[in-house]
Amino acid sequence: MRFSPVIIVCCAMLLTVGCTKKEAPSSTRLQVVTTLFPLYDFARTIAGGTADVTMLLPSGVEPHTFEPKPEDMIRISRAGLFVYTSRYMEPWADKIVSGINSRTLRVVNAGEKVTYRAAVSSDDHDDHNHHTGHKEHGDQKGMDPHIWLDFANAAQMVDAILAGFTASDPGNSALYRQNAEALKARLAALDDRYRKNLTSCATRKLLHGGHYTFGYLAHRYNFEYHALSGISSDAEPSAERMVGLVREIKSSGSRYLFAEELLSPRLTETLAHEAGVGVLMLHGAHNLSRDDQSRNVSFFDLMERNLEQLRKGLQCRAE
Ligand SMILES: [Zn+2]
Repeated sequence: MRFSPVIIVCCAMLLTVGCTKKEAPSSTRLQVVTTLFPLYDFARTIAGGTADVTMLLPSGVEPHTFEPKPEDMIRISRAGLFVYTSRYMEPWADKIVSGINSRTLRVVNAGEKVTYRAAVSSDDHDDHNHHTGHKEHGDQKGMDPHIWLDFANAAQMVDAILAGFTASDPGNSALYRQNAEALKARLAALDDRYRKNLTSCATRKLLHGGHYTFGYLAHRYNFEYHALSGISSDAEPSAERMVGLVREIKSSGSRYLFAEELLSPRLTETLAHEAGVGVLMLHGAHNLSRDDQSRNVSFFDLMERNLEQLRKGLQCRAE
């Protein structure tokens, strides 16, 4: 039996790949556990295939009420690097980490250097405009955890994750640094595209039939943000808030109400119907659906989708 040269070359390549894998078993590679999707996506980009990056949240799981199970704690304790967003997003993280007895685990609070904003809906401003202090200072419980939706914050998160990578695996630090720089350049370009595309819009009111997710985005691109409920997606909207949002839609002249990915769209659809407008989806990127995960959707894919929806919903034209 004779083999063609092509088959021989292919077999040799397969053997080489097999050998390379044997030379670098996964146990010697940096093991990284991340909580939410943006952290996972940034970490796997920085890793560039050199480290093993996983996400703690199963696809489709609600992130605000997520509590790690014992097996999740074991996963974290066996990792070299654990990356979470902040104590506002994962209030359980500090406690879990302090309970883990590991000399090798390094913990990254990705939002440590970010300047947090309070979750103050524009409706709150209207209701309490006599009160100038608001909740921006002091009330830490009301801090908005959705920091990744301001791409300058996202770049700071990339820096924090990079610092964790280079400290845990200094041998590959040049590669990690290079990947992080490229990632930050993409975030800066995305920010630029958002700014150019969202400057000239028919309305500056971002009306959202979901939980308070887009406060940072609204602040960065100068929109007035009205969300139906609070900073957690399990927060129940009040009847008063629903009536208020319908009134706001009608008076704003908006043609669309934005819906979110974490809740059933039924309530948003009902409110939009009541106000006589359409519904458009905006993705908060906390987590991926099973569908998006199977299609290997990236943070940038979600943000490009959002930009298209924002342009349509707010009737914007590029500068
Ligand atoms: Zn959220």
